[in-house]
Amino acid sequence: MKTAMILAAALLSGTAATATDAKTVVVTAAHMIDVVAGKRVDDPQVTIVDGRITAVGRKGDAVPAGAERVDLGGRTLLPGLIDMHVHLTSDPTLSGYRQLEFTDSFWTVVGVANARRTLDAGFTTVRNVGSSNYDDVALKQGIDRGYVPGPRIVPATYALGATGGHCDATEFPPSISVPHPQIANSPDEFRGLVRTIRKYGAEVVKVCMTGGVLSKTDSVGAQQISLAEIKAIVEEAHMLGMKVAVHAHGSEGINDALRAGVDTIEHASLADAESFRLAKASGAWFDMDIYDDDYILAEGAKNGVFPESLEKERQVGLKQRQTYRAAHAAGVKMLFGTDGGVYPNGNNALQFAKMVEWGMTPIEAIQAATSSAAVALGRTVDVGAIQPGRFGDLVAVDGDPLADVRQLEHPVFVMKGGAVVVAPK
Ligand SMILES: [Zn+2]
Repeated sequence: MKTAMILAAALLSGTAATATDAKTVVVTAAHMIDVVAGKRVDDPQVTIVDGRITAVGRKGDAVPAGAERVDLGGRTLLPGLIDMHVHLTSDPTLSGYRQLEFTDSFWTVVGVANARRTLDAGFTTVRNVGSSNYDDVALKQGIDRGYVPGPRIVPATYALGATGGHCDATEFPPSISVPHPQIANSPDEFRGLVRTIRKYGAEVVKVCMTGGVLSKTDSVGAQQISLAEIKAIVEEAHMLGMKVAVHAHGSEGINDALRAGVDTIEHASLADAESFRLAKASGAWFDMDIYDDDYILAEGAKNGVFPESLEKERQVGLKQRQTYRAAHAAGVKMLFGTDGGVYPNGNNALQFAKMVEWGMTPIEAIQAATSSAAVALGRTVDVGAIQPGRFGDLVAVDGDPLADVRQLEHPVFVMKGGAVVVAPK
């Protein structure tokens, strides 16, 4: 009862919390996953002041005067989770031509709903790698201003691509003209696009390097951006302090992207031994969405996914999981990225069990979604671990996630920036 009252108080103040609230919260639990050390520790006590962690000690350590207390009893504490590949402004039940029934700004509203679901699921930071109309920037601004709840967003804005490629709108006849601010066809044009999207809020550059599954007319493995073009993109993005995330299924596209020095390979379905060698040499990460195949094949036809896309998914789904296992075994650095929006946002944690099924230990899968993701984002100062200086972004689960990673599918407590988002029942 006492715990419930304390939590209710934390919730109330949490709803009004902003970056300027001066407030101290002390969180205690039975266990904590120290993702940096890769081990479980007992009786943690985490002190958060003004949204940032100031101390990580043990139950019984001194508590600052006037601090709010949140005791999670027998539960296990983890850092807030990070999904490196989502599309918050997408709804998988509105696939293919069904999207045309809605006005352009409708998708920002979809993003508002999905942002809340994602945060409630324990994902306190996401990289949004592709949306239209700068709606991910609008969503980020709304969340950061406290209008709506949601995770911290690293927006890519538009995913850049070539004419006729995965990120072009290839499902229309020539007489229907759709504005394509994200399409270019030479190294210099791509440089200009990188500068433009940064100007309007992009914090990471997403590039569609090869064909894709959900685009209607391209072949999933075929390269669509030349080595000269991706080199120009990487040079420009890195000069501007942005990382480059590359959508690539086919090995030629993956390998040229890695030769150009990109930071993350998304999907990586048909990566080969040369891809693994290049990734290890350059330090690039693989960010492979190995859960969503189940959803696409089960629900796609009902959701309006193009028959061509379902056929492509059947070609690469299993192969991608086999590649995932081989890449991990070869020592390629792996991230947690799910392509949320291709399946319903908020179900992100369903991928943890797949990652364990296909070769990772539970702690490796958790690190992919926390400490490793923070490194790949260049954000080790503020997200991805329970350490002094980082945001008070916390998740708790009932059981031991190192014994059963599916515990992460049902977080019983979520905190973002020291404010309680989900309180334990
Ligand atoms: Zn995607």
